[in-house]
This record gives sequence, structure tokens and C-alpha cells, in this order.
Amino acid sequence: MGKKKQLNKNTIISLYKRLFVYVKPYWVRIAIGTAFALTVSATTGATAWAVKPALDNIFLNKDAAKLALLPIGILALFAIQGVSRYAQNYLMKYVALKVVMEVRRDLFSHMQRLSLSFFHKTPIGSLMSRITNDTKELSQVAADIIPELLRQIFTLFGLVGVLFYQDWQLACIAVFVLPFVGLLMNTFGKKIKKISKKSLENTASLTSVLQESFSGIKIVKAFGMEPHENRKFQKVNKRNFDISMKSVRVNEISSPLMEFIGALAGAAILWYGGFQVINGTKTPGTFFSFLAALAMLYDPIRKLSKTNNDIQKAMAGAERVFEIMDIKPAIKDVHGAVTKDRFESEIVFNNVSFLYNEADGMILKDIDFRVQKGQMIALVGPSGVGKSTLVDLIPRFYEPTIGSITIDGIDTRQIKLTSLCSLIGIVTQETFLFNDTIRDNIAYGRVDATEEEIIEAAKAAFAHDFVSNFPMGYNTVIGERGVRLSGGEKQRISIARALLKNPDILILDEATSALDSESEKMVQKALENLMQQRTTLVIAHRLSTIVHADLILVFEGGKIVEMGKHDELLAKKAVYSKLHRIQFRTDKEFEKGIVH
Ligand code: ADP
Repeated sequence: MGKKKQLNKNTIISLYKRLFVYVKPYWVRIAIGTAFALTVSATTGATAWAVKPALDNIFLNKDAAKLALLPIGILALFAIQGVSRYAQNYLMKYVALKVVMEVRRDLFSHMQRLSLSFFHKTPIGSLMSRITNDTKELSQVAADIIPELLRQIFTLFGLVGVLFYQDWQLACIAVFVLPFVGLLMNTFGKKIKKISKKSLENTASLTSVLQESFSGIKIVKAFGMEPHENRKFQKVNKRNFDISMKSVRVNEISSPLMEFIGALAGAAILWYGGFQVINGTKTPGTFFSFLAALAMLYDPIRKLSKTNNDIQKAMAGAERVFEIMDIKPAIKDVHGAVTKDRFESEIVFNNVSFLYNEADGMILKDIDFRVQKGQMIALVGPSGVGKSTLVDLIPRFYEPTIGSITIDGIDTRQIKLTSLCSLIGIVTQETFLFNDTIRDNIAYGRVDATEEEIIEAAKAAFAHDFVSNFPMGYNTVIGERGVRLSGGEKQRISIARALLKNPDILILDEATSALDSESEKMVQKALENLMQQRTTLVIAHRLSTIVHADLILVFEGGKIVEMGKHDELLAKKAVYSKLHRIQFRTDKEFEKGIVH
């Protein structure tokens, strides 16, 4: 128990330290803001203190001349207070918003560096929620909490000062309750932090349900699963309500409870102090000034307890943000990694085995083959045998569990990731185009490309004609904000993108399988242009496209079961020839209209 407490304390201290790194550059603004906070507090204290001279000197002495000064004094105090409060809030919120911006920047850039496996394990919606909600929660520390905390603490001290100045004995009774208030605040704070963490986790689930339902809306509709999605959403939505209500219960009970403790002290003071005024041992001015300070003390105490709750909420956010920042990329450059500008001779798979996780076992087993520069290698086999996994190992999206892959004799783990990726171009079945202009989509990965280069790439990808037909040409925005493209058109844009990148090694992952035969012909021609003078690994769906491959690798159960050229493999009359026969027959039947 003791150890756990210590651990929590340490994590809290380290959270503050890490937050401090973000806040530190703005210390001048914070210092000036603090000075303004002090001014606000001083004017509050001064208002309480002024009750005594006002009562004793003006009203009890019936001094009309001095009475004229009273409204002027009050106006001046409020003017100073108003200006100071504005300046303090402005400066502090500036710092807070800057901190959120910087934490978001760092979190996003950190996430971008994390490996593919991280993104496969974590729902995208929940990652989005970390960047939007958790950082916002954290920002409250600087925006609302720090100024509020400073102001309330100073005000508290100012008012307690007035209490002691007016009557130290009564003041002792008044501050006697403060430790109890502190204790209560601590208890509530801990509860709030726990609830807030749950609430942020739930918000993340909410975002991820939304993200999945909206991005899979077509499937949702096609399977008539709207009621199911509604139920799924309502479940997290309801949980959100429950957690929020729990938070309301704890949040809202803390202030009244503390006020009641304060009222107890107030009642005792009123009774005891009142007696002294009646006895004549105390002037009414002193007593009412004391009472005014005491009454004003409620406000900072109440706000401090609320602020304490807010700090705990912010800490819950900070914990979740730094949790992600602490995840190290599973795959990164090793010390002394080399840069490789060109692919010179061969790629070799040396007895490569691979597993995603222990539970599923080896997905690839003992893969051993070599690819010479300029060759076209085809990977064939039923789906789920590990073809995509194998090609993902080349750009190091994942690393072999056993064995190694070398490019020109250098282990890919020794090559800088950026340089490795610059050697490789990938065209996959699911093309991804950004919600941006066609020009920028083609130039993605080569932002320095000239207009001529972009057009040349589009022409070679058979995209120039249809792009030119759009009224806005290459400035046409694709996606949500712009035109919708057909599957084949999207493919050709992504082929243009790969052409412009001009990689030495090309990976094609079933690039034409989702297209109708007309589009497929165009895409096939575009791909032929792309493959020219390159080393290509193709995951082949249609065997007709790989007849001329230099080497065909046939997969079964994560292993290469046959290897050779088309004719050799057909002659073997084994796995490949069977695959070929099935496909040939299906194609024929398709042409005859038997299979739809
Ligand atoms: P293919 O490309 O031949 O269709 P894949 O390489 O996509 O096969 O998949 C091989 C096996 O690995 C499948 O059983 C699949 O379920 C599994 N798999 C693919 N991606 C992942 C992943 N990110 N995490 C865990 N298992 C995966």
C-alpha cells in the first residue's frame, strides 16, 4: 500500500515535471500574469479592510466630507481589479493555448513515428480522442487552473491577513477549520481524478465507435446493421452519461460541504465576536471588517476546491497523453544505420520466419529466395497465406522474427528507414487518396516535383486524359470536398504517384483485382509503364498478368511450396498448375456468362 502511494506520488511529480517543460518558455508571461493576479487579490483584501475605516470613521463619526471619497475609492478599486483580471486571464490563457498546441504537435509527430503494429492494435478513434480531448483537458491546467489557483491562494492569504490584523484571536477560530477543508479537498481530488480518467477512456471509445460506424457506413447499410450500430453507440453514450453524473455528484458536493464547515466557524465567530461588540471590547468597524473578510473567504475556498478538482481532471488527461508519448517505436533506425541511395544488385530473403503475435504462431516459415535487379517476381497462392505480410517486411513495416532480408548485401535493419522507403514504391489494392487536389495527390512524397513532371507521370499512368477533362484539371479536389473517382481512376492516380517517386523497387499488391475488365486493361497498361526498368514484386491475383515473370513463388500455409517460371511450374502439374486450371476455367465460364 505504502509503495503504491509512493509510486503514485512519483508519477504525479514526473507528470508535473513534464508539463513544466512545456510551460517554462513562457515564464515571463506567467510572472507578469502572477503580478496581475496579486493585484486582483490585493484589491479584494483592500475591500474587506476598508469596511473598518468606512464604518468607524465615516458612518459612526457622521463625516460627510469623507463620505464623498467612498464611492470614488470603490470605483478605483474595481477599475484596478477589472483591468488586472483581464490582463491576468489574457496572459495565462495565451500560455495555456500555446501549451495545448505544442503538446498536440508533439503527440501527433510522435504518433506518426510509431510503427504500423501500434496502429493495428489501437482503434483510430481512440487515438483521435487523445489528441483532441485529452490534450484539451490538460490545457485547463494553464488556462483556467493556474490563474484561478494563484488568484485564490493570494486572495486567501490577503483575507486571512485582514482577519489576523483585525483580531488575531477570532482569526485563530476561523482558520482552525482550514486543515479539515484541506483534507476534504484531497479526498475529493483523488475521486475526481479517477472519474476523469474513466471519462476520457469512455470518450475515446465513443470516438472510435463513431469513427468505425461512419467510415464503414456502406457495410452498415448493406447489412442493415443500423440498429446494431445504434445500440453500440447508445451503450457508450449511456456510460458517458453515468460517468458524467458520477463526476457531477462528487464535484458538486465538495463546495457545499466545505461551505458548511466554513459556516460552522462563522456561526461561532458571530456569536463570540458579537458579544465583544455589545460589551464594548471591540468596535463595530473592526468586527464588521472581520466579518466581511470572513464572508469573502468563502469564495476562494469554494473556488480552490473546484480548482483542485480541475487539476485532477487535467492530470488524468496528462497521464493519458504522456502514456502515448512513452511508447517507443517498435521499429527505428539502429545506431550507425547507413543511407542507401540506389538499389544495385539483389534482394535476398535468408530463411525468414515471421509472427505477428505468439498466439497466432508463425505466419511465414523459412522463406528463402533472391531477387536480381530488374527482375519481376510474382507471389501467388490463396488469400491469407502471408503474401502481403511478406512484402511488408521489405520496407520494414514489420521485421522478420527469424532470419534476415538484405538489399545489396546489407541487412535492411541496418539501413536508415527514410532511405529504405525512398527505394521502394508501393501500389496496393486499396488506394488511398487525400482530400486534396489531384496535383498534390500525385506529388505526395515528392513535393518538389515540377508541373511537367507531374503531367508526365499522369500521362504514363493513363490518367492525364480524364484529369484534363475535369473543369479544374489538376486542381480538382478529390474526395469529401470534390469529385468522386472510379476505382480504376483512383488506381491510375496512385500509379502516377508511384511513377513520380521513381523508386528502384516496386511492390504491387493485387493492384488490379478489384476492377472491371475495361478499367483493368487501362490500369494494367499503366502498371506496365510503371514496372519498366524496375525490380518488381507482384502479389498476383490474375495469373495471366504474370506469365512473363522471371520467378513465380507459390505459397501454401506460409511456406513457399513451388518456385520457378510459368512454363516450368505448369509442366510440374502440381500446385501452380492447379491454381492456373481453376482460374482459367473460371475465366472461361465468366466469359460464357455461367459465373456472375
Ligand atoms: P495474403 O496477403 O496472402 O492474403 P496476409 O499476409 O494478408 O495474407 O495475411 C496472412 C495472415 O496474417 C492472415 O492469417 C492474417 O489474418 C494475418 N494477419 C495479417 N495482418 C495481421 C496483423 N496486422 N496482425 C495480426 N495478424 C495479421
